[in-house]
Amino acid sequence: MNTFDRDHLWHPYTSMTDPLPAYEVASASGVRIRLKDGRELVDGMASWWCVIHGYNDPRLNQAIKDQLRRVAHVMFGGLTHEPAIALGRQLVDLTPGPLQHVFFSDSGSVAVEVAIKMALQFWQARDKPGKRRLLTLRGGYHGDTFGAMAACDPVNGMHQLFRGVLPEHLFAPRPATRFGAPLQPGDLEGFERLIGTHRDELAAVILEPIVQGAGGMWFYSADYLRGVAELCRQHGVLLIADEIATGFGRTGRLFACEHAGISPDILCLGKALTGGYLGLAATLATSEVAVGISGRGGVLMHGPTFMANPLATAVAGRSIELLLASPWERRIAAIEDQLRRELGVYAAHPAVADVRVLGGIGVVETREPVDVAALQKLFVEQGAWIRPFGRLIYLMPPYVIEPADLTLLTRAVGAALAATPH
Ligand SMILES: *Cc1c(COP(=O)(O)O)cnc(C)c1O
Repeated sequence: MNTFDRDHLWHPYTSMTDPLPAYEVASASGVRIRLKDGRELVDGMASWWCVIHGYNDPRLNQAIKDQLRRVAHVMFGGLTHEPAIALGRQLVDLTPGPLQHVFFSDSGSVAVEVAIKMALQFWQARDKPGKRRLLTLRGGYHGDTFGAMAACDPVNGMHQLFRGVLPEHLFAPRPATRFGAPLQPGDLEGFERLIGTHRDELAAVILEPIVQGAGGMWFYSADYLRGVAELCRQHGVLLIADEIATGFGRTGRLFACEHAGISPDILCLGKALTGGYLGLAATLATSEVAVGISGRGGVLMHGPTFMANPLATAVAGRSIELLLASPWERRIAAIEDQLRRELGVYAAHPAVADVRVLGGIGVVETREPVDVAALQKLFVEQGAWIRPFGRLIYLMPPYVIEPADLTLLTRAVGAALAATPH
């Protein structure tokens, strides 16, 4: 372990005095992460949903090198450039038709802040400044900045820690109906009651379509999502779809909204957008929202320093080209089948509460919280990079993973369960 790292560098959600160990990476290629001590790990996390094509892809490397020869960065205020224009065009073409306007930022959390700001400014411009709260679902995750945190699950999010600072939004129960099942009677009732009662103070509903990620790795019914979209329309509330985790094929569709055939007013993208090369996110809006904000001389009040960074937008454009030119649907379907078979057998394990799989995501939910440090060590010994949290051991590998490598990951999950007290 590197002692400077341990003593001076913060890692995500860790203590400075009692951190979990951090393994030092020397390099990575394909689905393999090489540690400084020479060990190789098969990546089960795609570095938090991002690395869909694998590491060190020569075509993505080349896209960055080519752009580097032209310009690494220029401000986006008053200037524009080809990689931003080309990527904007791709995003407008790929996402549902009504989404026509793109705001680039540098991280998913900021994309969510921008989405919230768009919704607030939209209602201000319509002389309805009282519409400034959000309605969302329990079990959600939208990022770690303050606006985004306020929309995260109030229990496993950080609301206790920041009480009095975070705006207080409204939370409907987590959808109970599983993905693939018809809506259970009453499942939408809590949501329906909240949106009906609070419509005059609601700017927007924000949710992760179909897959709730970091808030609990839960997959819910497309009927529920369709119901929400319809209720938003009926009650005059904007719908923000946060597809930062689900975008670009992970759930088996290019965007998770497609499972329900809905089109949001505002869409957030990030994570896999650059294939995991650089931080970049985008917030897309319909013409109704964009023109509404800009009515009577209004401007959208946001402008990150590294907005639409040329290197990031160039590699994102190339990553999307690679994705669309690849047999991604077949690959995701094959990963899904294999995860169902190989994780499915653990459903009967006494330590396991539930096993669920959707697209390139496999989840084993345990009955008790797992010992992250112990399991991480065990996974590394098995040659796997898997990082569980809470009661969730989950896999979301790069799309290019081969069956034998995926089996290595699912076997490692089995070894972890065998080592889990039950
Ligand atoms: C990761 C994530 C975010 C936040 O993105 P960052 O790039 O970490 O700021 C927001 N929403 C969802 C659904 C995410 O999975």
